[in-house]
Amino acid sequence: MLHFVYSIINFLILAALLFVLGRKTVLAIFRGRRERIGRALDEAEQTMRETVVLPGIPEAFSDAVPQAALDEAEAIRENARREVEASRKRTEDTVRGLRREMLADERARLIDKIVARAAEMTAQEPYQSAIRAKEEDFAAEIIRRMEITPGDIAYLRHHDQLYVTLTSAHPLPQPIVDRIGERAKEMLSEIGGKPSYWVKEDPALIGGLRFRVGDTVYDFTVADRLYQLRRSLEARELTGEEDADAVIRDLFEGIASMEPGISEFQLGRVLSVSDGICWMDGLADIMYGEVVEFEGGERGMVLDIEADRIGCVIYGRYERVESGTKVRRVGQIASVPVGESLLGRVVDPLGHALDGKGRIFERERRPIECPAPSIPDRAAVSRPMHTGIRAIDALVPIGKGQRELIIGDRQTGKSSIAIDAIINQKGTGTLCIYVAIGQKDSTVMEIRDRLTKYGAMDYTTIVCAPASSSASLQYIAPFAGAAMAEYFMYTGRDALIVYDDLSKHAVAYRELSLLLGRPSGREAYPGDVFYLHARLLERAAQLSPENGGGSVTALPIIETQAGDISAYIPTNVISITDGQIFLDSDLFNEGQRPAVNVGLSVSRVGSAAQTGLMKQVSSRLRMDLAQYRELAGFTQFGSDVDAATRSVLASGRRMMAALRQRRFDPLPDWKQVLLIFAVSEGLAADVREEDMEDWGRIIAERLEAKHPLQTAWLLDGKKLSPEERELLKRAVEECARGTEAA
Ligand code: ATP
Ligand code: MG
Repeated sequence: MLHFVYSIINFLILAALLFVLGRKTVLAIFRGRRERIGRALDEAEQTMRETVVLPGIPEAFSDAVPQAALDEAEAIRENARREVEASRKRTEDTVRGLRREMLADERARLIDKIVARAAEMTAQEPYQSAIRAKEEDFAAEIIRRMEITPGDIAYLRHHDQLYVTLTSAHPLPQPIVDRIGERAKEMLSEIGGKPSYWVKEDPALIGGLRFRVGDTVYDFTVADRLYQLRRSLEARELTGEEDADAVIRDLFEGIASMEPGISEFQLGRVLSVSDGICWMDGLADIMYGEVVEFEGGERGMVLDIEADRIGCVIYGRYERVESGTKVRRVGQIASVPVGESLLGRVVDPLGHALDGKGRIFERERRPIECPAPSIPDRAAVSRPMHTGIRAIDALVPIGKGQRELIIGDRQTGKSSIAIDAIINQKGTGTLCIYVAIGQKDSTVMEIRDRLTKYGAMDYTTIVCAPASSSASLQYIAPFAGAAMAEYFMYTGRDALIVYDDLSKHAVAYRELSLLLGRPSGREAYPGDVFYLHARLLERAAQLSPENGGGSVTALPIIETQAGDISAYIPTNVISITDGQIFLDSDLFNEGQRPAVNVGLSVSRVGSAAQTGLMKQVSSRLRMDLAQYRELAGFTQFGSDVDAATRSVLASGRRMMAALRQRRFDPLPDWKQVLLIFAVSEGLAADVREEDMEDWGRIIAERLEAKHPLQTAWLLDGKKLSPEERELLKRAVEECARGTEAA
């Protein structure tokens, strides 16, 4: 019977819509948009046509031109073709994204109209009579369903009365009111509660009944149906390929497929709001981390559960929430969209697009808080995660699945290292997530542009909670990023996640905790800030082959004050991670960039992932550098130094020079090995320090061209025998001849 009445309502809504919003009106809405999309497409095509494509080389000339030149021309041509292809794809993606955004806008407006119109119509005859005729059935269903929950019993322990209310749009016939009242009384007396029963009217419900026991609501009203209708229509996916007709068809399908039914949910009430935090009561069975929805559509997440009240952070605009606002349990743990559709995008910590490329319709979501993989599910770190930075890959190597901290004062190149590592993942299949916490919008913009320029945005997602966003968003940002990275790990792929930076995250968490009234400990941080970062970083792992063998490598960043690594947050994160890259502001100012302090930087597991050759070459380097530092310290003020010491100092300086590297210029592993080998064998004795980087590049080019055997050894990465070492040395010497002048 119930089914029947709802099918009638649905059918009538459908008929009314067809009548009121004829295709003409809707098409008129779309026409303007359509023209704009058309123009954008034209422009894109124009750009593509104007892009130069190098022509092929005519056959007749090919004999006259040397093969090398031909090959080079062919390579350039191929490159240009690839560039054009990539730029075309980017343009297409952008156009599709824009289209999707426009369609979503239009659709939202259309849904508003649909719902408003449906509300209007259901408030009139003949719907009203049809709904009123069903009141008996609704009442019977309420009597059948009503029950006392454990939450209600707990509530009665501290309060003398449980509130039972029956609300309807119109005065109800007395027998219905009495029957429900009788049953409620009976139920309350079973648990020893005082009888309580209120009957109210609320025209906003449009029709039907709403029954409430304590905080549980049984909702049979038209208003609730319309709310559900809106939610389900908004959730329908748009690909950006649709036209106006398809959108309308999809909406109609959505309306037709609505299941008639009732909603049963828990309802609470806001007690107080301040600074993005609110306290609520009701919602007895709610869980930590669950999502709640406030009247008016704002959402929040439960962060504190006390005996008689619940603390919750409000995402977004908390000005709209005030004491007395109703809060509804949504029945979800806080989660974010995950998957490939997020690559190349800039999103906020809830997964909403921030880059104007259209709303992201997710196929899959993951909870932002999720237990880390267990020990049996993991494998040891064994594969390298090259950053392309010599000072790191040689001395503090990072393995896939490792957590390596980047720590240093402000402006010491911390973010640059992380960005270089992301750029270096190009073509390796590793997918990257960059989480920006508490940074300026302009900084994040710049990073996005850099990544785009070096072609790294194709496999990267930026999760952005800028300094201007609320503490609650900054707090969940790294967890949201971790969920996105985990998705790739559990589908057997490798992910790299950068948390830039966790100091600001700790500050955001401190703000929330203090607002929630939690006791503060060292440096006013709450006691569980260690647990907060430990459970976040524990989610980085190398999974065992049985579990797909995917991995998440985490590079958290921490900012220190005046190099003080013994402050609370730095010591916490140092002890959580598998090593740290310590950046020194003195080195940075001396021009040693990246300013990796070799003495204080360690990698506890990464060397397992280094190639044998790199290990062989760099073990010597570490020792030599240690010796150099010690000597340099001693001789700082002395002027008369003997010749042997002078030579050690000179070679040490050259080694330091070999570790200098420009930004955005990651180097493949074998070229790094080559340069370090050459320097530590003393083959670069005559090279000026500032030329070292270019010198390394020239040597690598020459070796590759003239000594395929030695190049193959380097590429292979196996440990060299003494004879092989000698041969390599000779080859490098040969390549080096004449370079000093160059
Ligand atoms: P913040 O504390 O503001 O986050 P940060 O420690 O992340 O700073 P970056 O923003 O990465 O530092 O870099 C700071 C400056 O140092 C940049 O302007 C950049 O130009 C310079 N820099 C970083 N790395 C290098 C490098 N390898 N070579 C030359 N300059 C560099
Ligand atoms: Mg930075």
